[in-house]
Amino acid sequence: MTVAAQTPAGDLRLVNLTKTFGAFTAVEELDLTVPQGSFFALLGASGCGKTTTLRMVAGLAEPTRGRVLLGDRDITRLRPYKRPVNTVFQSYALFPHLDVFENVAFGLRRRGIRSVDGQVRRMLSLVQLDGYERHRPAQLSGGQQQRVALARALINHPQVLLLDEPLGALDVKLRRRMQIELKRIQTEVGVTFVHVTHDQEEAMTMADAVAVMNAGRIEQLGAPAELYEFPATAFVANFLGQSNLIAGDVSGGNGGDLLVTAHGARFSVPSARSRAAQGPVLLGVRPEKLHLAAAAGQVPTGHQHVEGSITDASYVGVSTQYLLRTGWGDELSVFVANSGAQERFAVGERAVAYWDPRHAFLLGRHVDDD
Ligand code: ATP
Repeated sequence: MTVAAQTPAGDLRLVNLTKTFGAFTAVEELDLTVPQGSFFALLGASGCGKTTTLRMVAGLAEPTRGRVLLGDRDITRLRPYKRPVNTVFQSYALFPHLDVFENVAFGLRRRGIRSVDGQVRRMLSLVQLDGYERHRPAQLSGGQQQRVALARALINHPQVLLLDEPLGALDVKLRRRMQIELKRIQTEVGVTFVHVTHDQEEAMTMADAVAVMNAGRIEQLGAPAELYEFPATAFVANFLGQSNLIAGDVSGGNGGDLLVTAHGARFSVPSARSRAAQGPVLLGVRPEKLHLAAAAGQVPTGHQHVEGSITDASYVGVSTQYLLRTGWGDELSVFVANSGAQERFAVGERAVAYWDPRHAFLLGRHVDDD
């Protein structure tokens, strides 16, 4: 479907983009490139500066410093309505007195376009709302209103579509459905999407690339699997799901591996999965990459292990989530799938958590973080 702009937009680039409110810096020296036609997510906790960043791209907030570029065009000082950028807000902001057709047609009519029928119907079909032309927003479900908002924004042929927590008002099941739906629509229209969310699963499901923001800065930018499998900081490791982080020190190397001493034990991590080659480190393993055995003798060769006792076992349907308290007092989280014949452990039992070192990762550690 040719909904995308006629002229190629080029990449969206934020250069040294900064926004201060008085003495407070909401967005600090942001440098990032969103490739044309990609689905990009800005992910972070409330207050980290996501919305402020989006508002500067839309032209709704003036940057204190830095630039916004679209291809080779500098749009930093362009008025919002002159930018080839549209925004979909969480509140949808539909016109309550207009029906679905007129809501979607609005942008075209405002530009004086008379024959809007074909375009509106194509957009409604894209968002799967054929047959709803004469409904008012109040007669639609949250998910349907969201689709109208999307159609209304896309009919203007933006080169970049900004989405600010667009699924925030939907219940969990509908959210998941709309995530898949949004991704499908983005792929179909090929417009650059910049999606703001605090929901890590949402960002990872939809986006080609995710920038994790923390306190006005980007902590890490990468493809979802890369961020999850090989986080660059403890913040990213913990923000994208759970991580077990064991404090230790690099004590040497062995071929392609680094050796880490932690609490009197030695572990190895492939150098390729290490972001620090010396000094204090955090050895990370995701809970689903840990397995449980009754005794060290049962640990498969080539695996690393830690002994402890089970302090909690929570059945959560697909898996049982165990906590294993180690001799030095850490509690490791272990997810054991509930399929098959995995051995079960009771609270109070001794157990061994083990992992394949190729699934571990190593981060630098500031000693004062301990
Ligand atoms: P949320 O998900 O809650 O919307 P966010 O990551 O989008 O959070 P922003 O809305 O960008 O965060 O806000 C970033 C910081 O800037 C917050 O601490 C906020 O209080 C502050 N801030 C935003 N707008 C203003 C303003 N107009 N004046 C003063 N401070 C502001």
